[in-house]
Amino acid sequence: MATQPAQPIQVPKPKKAFIRRFAPDRSQRTRHIVQGLFLVLNAWLGLQFYLWARYFEHGGVGPSVARPAGVEGWLPIAGLMNTKYLLLTGRVPQIHPAAMFLFIGFMLMSLFLKKAFCSWLCPVGTFSEFLWKIGRRIFGRNLRLPRWFDIALRSLKYVLLGLFVAVIGAMSAAALEDFMATPYGLVADVKMLNFFRNIGITAAVVIGLLMLLSMLVQNFWCRYLCPYGALMGLASLFSPVKIRRDQDACIDCGKCAKACPAGLAVDKLVQIRSVECTACMECVAVCSTQDALQFALPRRRAGAPAERWCRRVLTPLAVCGVIAYIFFGLVLFARATNHWQTILPQSVYMQLVPRANQLTHPGM
Ligand code: SF4
Ligand code: SF4
Repeated sequence: MATQPAQPIQVPKPKKAFIRRFAPDRSQRTRHIVQGLFLVLNAWLGLQFYLWARYFEHGGVGPSVARPAGVEGWLPIAGLMNTKYLLLTGRVPQIHPAAMFLFIGFMLMSLFLKKAFCSWLCPVGTFSEFLWKIGRRIFGRNLRLPRWFDIALRSLKYVLLGLFVAVIGAMSAAALEDFMATPYGLVADVKMLNFFRNIGITAAVVIGLLMLLSMLVQNFWCRYLCPYGALMGLASLFSPVKIRRDQDACIDCGKCAKACPAGLAVDKLVQIRSVECTACMECVAVCSTQDALQFALPRRRAGAPAERWCRRVLTPLAVCGVIAYIFFGLVLFARATNHWQTILPQSVYMQLVPRANQLTHPGM
């Protein structure tokens, strides 16, 4: 009689012990407070800039306020151009220097804290998050696009980034300086204000469509179209602090992956290298297992999970501290060295601000 081949015996994996997290999570409350404060700061800057521009539009009649240089944070292309100018010449540019300091600051944040700028500071990121949360309430869930379509769409932001980098990369220091000194370059910030003040039908339809898509798909603009976020994502690859999972402590419940707005497989990986991770810590917030998931430096090798994470974890307050240190450090440095403000005679603004809408890009 022929003998049957021996079947391998399936040994069930031992169930890991669930140890409930000792302290409640405060990451989301802390992050939302920081988002709110930055939103208020931007609203304040926007209002002050509006009043400044109105003064010149009314021919110097009415209350005069100082130009808030912080609005240049909304000029990332000027920031990129000026950073290149600084690298080529070693000189701080005269026009829109604050754009450069803020650009460098946000890049440094990405180098140390993944794309924390996107989920902790950026007003567009905050608004996007608000929209998908509203969308989830209305429709019961957000859409997850098929993987092939998601990857194809994600490449769009790199195409846009590539276009900017190619154009700016081909410019010499003299060309960069000349561009900034054109009437268009001098009042690029006023043009941006006018874009939102006198929004046309086409722009309104596009923005409306993007808002609708952002309600359906989490962070639609940030994930697929934002070239600034694409650049920060590339910088974030070097971040020593990442979302890290301890396989010994993790009970494989999958809650973290479900909560991740970037759709990352947090429950399967030991560290999240992805350029899409915005350090929002939503995954950490939902993980109820002690020492399983952290926003942390690489852990120590030996010992129990608690010992491995010792002095490696960034608490939400520590994240705030690093963000504040970089942001206020650079702003104060620029102010102390008299490199924060664009210093132009009032007569130049008196001439250019009222006719900012007629000024076209020098390359057109
Ligand atoms: S991995 Fe965590 S921190 Fe990164 S985007 Fe997803 S939820 Fe946010
Ligand atoms: S939430 Fe994620 S990290 Fe935490 S126990 Fe569940 S699978 Fe593991």
